[in-house]
Amino acid sequence: MIIVLKSRAPQKKTDELIDWLRSKQLDVHVSVGHYQTVLGLVGDTSRVDTDLLTGLEIVEQVQRISEPFKMANRKFHEEDTCVSAGPFRIGAGSFAFIAGPCSVENEEQIISVAKAVKEAGATALRGGAFKPRTSPYDFQGLRADGIELLLEAKKETGLPIVTEIMNAAHLPLFEQVDVIQVGARNMQNFELLKELGRVNKPILLKRGLANTLKELLMSAEYILAGGNEQVILCERGIRTFETYTRNTLDLSAVPVLKELSHLPVVIDPSHATGVSRYVPSMALAAAAAGADGLMLEVHGDPAHALCDGPQSLTPEQFASLTKQVNKVRKALSEG
Ligand code: PEP
Ligand code: MN
Repeated sequence: MIIVLKSRAPQKKTDELIDWLRSKQLDVHVSVGHYQTVLGLVGDTSRVDTDLLTGLEIVEQVQRISEPFKMANRKFHEEDTCVSAGPFRIGAGSFAFIAGPCSVENEEQIISVAKAVKEAGATALRGGAFKPRTSPYDFQGLRADGIELLLEAKKETGLPIVTEIMNAAHLPLFEQVDVIQVGARNMQNFELLKELGRVNKPILLKRGLANTLKELLMSAEYILAGGNEQVILCERGIRTFETYTRNTLDLSAVPVLKELSHLPVVIDPSHATGVSRYVPSMALAAAAAGADGLMLEVHGDPAHALCDGPQSLTPEQFASLTKQVNKVRKALSEG
């Protein structure tokens, strides 16, 4: 339920209302906008008398939220959310380029690619340390050593790091990680999501291979409801009958998610297409559609990458892509 307050509601009366609502065992989220203050209520609101609230002098409007996601809902929080970690910012006008290899392979590889993507305009470095692989015989990632190497790359370049968690028991290893990624295969690992709700750092949540946008928002809700308000939504392609691309990029996720939610939206054209030559056009389309950021796989030598080489850009290709994306963003802002 949301309560929209009148624009000049006195603070004392507002505080009294909030205290009264909290005394009814409801969580009250206050969002102070440019024009009005909105109170978002979470909990059992079935016994709240909407007529009584509507009759209050300071209340403009009371609305029940019909969607099952509340805290992720734009009705709950009208303005775009900016998610941040140190110098990293995404949403509410800040655009992120999250770039790096699928997997951390060795020190030389990650440090050199980190320097190259930084030079080309990346705002964060990605790199998998714990890798979800379809085959148990494939490279599984360097695990804790991979995180150590990412931290070294961060020290060298200043780039914040984004890396995937697969098991909540590994959380102590992620202490210095800036943004924790939940991969497509774990989007509905609800116990993991609950643990991440107790973490005080941004979570980049990837859409599952066969999940609806409503399910993605419900997974985000698990993290938000746990008290972590820093969630980034990521569309990375879904399973369809098409075989020329690895997945099918659902670009309509951008306008739909941005209408329904205040959370920032990232597009990952690398996993969506699986083919590096298709990545630039999809990245440009994502920027044109209003995405808040891109996640791109970049490798110094894609032909010899231990994982996802065919979809990885070279640092040079990434550099030319960031320039083009920035031109699209500039054109949009001028339009
Ligand atoms: C990744 O980003 O490296 C990854 C495994 O992505 P996804 O979970 O989208 O497949
Ligand atoms: Mn990958």
